[in-house]
Amino acid sequence: MLAPRSYTREDVIELQVHGGPVCCRRVLRAAIEAGARPARPGEFTLRAFLNGRLDLSQAESVMQLVEARTAAAADSALAGLRGGVGQEVRQIREGVLDVLVEVEARIDFEEDLGPLDTDAVKRDVAALQRDIEAALRTARQGALLRNGLQARGRRAWEEGRRGVAIVGRPNVGKSSLLNAWTRTDRAIVTDIAGTTRDVLEADLVVGGVPLTLLDTAGIRDSTDEVEAIGVGRSQAAASNADIVLMVVDASAGWTEADQVIYSDLWGKGPGTRSCRVKGMSLLVANKADLAGNQEVPLPLPVKEAFRSVVRTCAVSRDGLGSLEEAILQLAGAPQLASGGVSWAVNERQAEALVRAHEALMGVSQSVQEGLPYDCWTIDLRAAAIALGEVSGDEVAEEVLDSVFSRFCLGK
Ligand code: GDP
Ligand code: ZN
Repeated sequence: MLAPRSYTREDVIELQVHGGPVCCRRVLRAAIEAGARPARPGEFTLRAFLNGRLDLSQAESVMQLVEARTAAAADSALAGLRGGVGQEVRQIREGVLDVLVEVEARIDFEEDLGPLDTDAVKRDVAALQRDIEAALRTARQGALLRNGLQARGRRAWEEGRRGVAIVGRPNVGKSSLLNAWTRTDRAIVTDIAGTTRDVLEADLVVGGVPLTLLDTAGIRDSTDEVEAIGVGRSQAAASNADIVLMVVDASAGWTEADQVIYSDLWGKGPGTRSCRVKGMSLLVANKADLAGNQEVPLPLPVKEAFRSVVRTCAVSRDGLGSLEEAILQLAGAPQLASGGVSWAVNERQAEALVRAHEALMGVSQSVQEGLPYDCWTIDLRAAAIALGEVSGDEVAEEVLDSVFSRFCLGK
């Protein structure tokens, strides 16, 4: 493929080799003897970046696309690859440079140009800050799509990693919910209280966010030793989870046993010292089919502890959609519920955007306090540099190294 019509914009030769390791190795050896060397991680994409095929944010999208575990994560990466992040940030950077030019001109030619419109500068800087904030708001969605609500892995909850924990007294339908939700029969469902003795994990994708559901043993005082271990584990799972779903039986209302579990896990309510649950909490009123249209009457502190109450029926799967929406809402990415994924900034980009935002705060402060123009331009330049790091227009060697070393070989 002749330059510039290749991925790297360089001349590229592609050898198609028979399958089979022996043939491959011999051809590879011949190539190396003829002067070739193996590519470094991400080297093809680095060259594509250096030769102007991609900007830095697009190069990072390539990596996100390779690593995507869900269709939504791949769609978001593709939106970034099409230039979403880079374009948006470049526009903000141009806005900053416009203001910088205006101010710098006044340093040298104030007499000829007339006074600076300070109000206009304030307005422009505030608008640029709002644009940066909007871009930063995508960071949460991006992190969710990339990492999900739980780092994957067996027994992750034991290692203190996180997920969505389902707690509640025995027999309210926790295992049935997990089964209905994941459409499996992983959890044993019976109507003998205390059947689920351990913590069960199931992987699920909600609105593109991979998450791990933990079905915990019914939490209650137990004389059965095996069951008691299960109870201890569910407390651990609940305290490490990103989101805790407390399930109650809608037809039974809020019972004494529910209150015991609530007091054990939430104590005097979220945010208090006695609260074991560090994540967010959602109340699920299951068996809604047996409760008619009745709402579950809740004590006031309980009502306040749960941001929302979702009614479900594990048997008919009714209410699972609302449950997913409520979870995405709690996770901070409600837009994912509608399947609306777009580009999202990653941690590196978010860090640069935060620096740019701080620099612009400095500008508005200098304007406010009537400091000399030199002070304004220092911060405006710092903002432009930080924004330039996102697209790679302005980027240090170390940043490139750290971005591309995370690529896999051959990309
Ligand atoms: P767990 O102990 O909380 O895990 O409860 P299970 O999932 O084992 O369910 C206990 C019993 O309640 C089983 O007989 C389920 O079939 C039944 N059950 C679970 N969810 C519902 C529901 O939404 N409606 C009705 N009518 N029964 C349910
Ligand atoms: Zn169960």
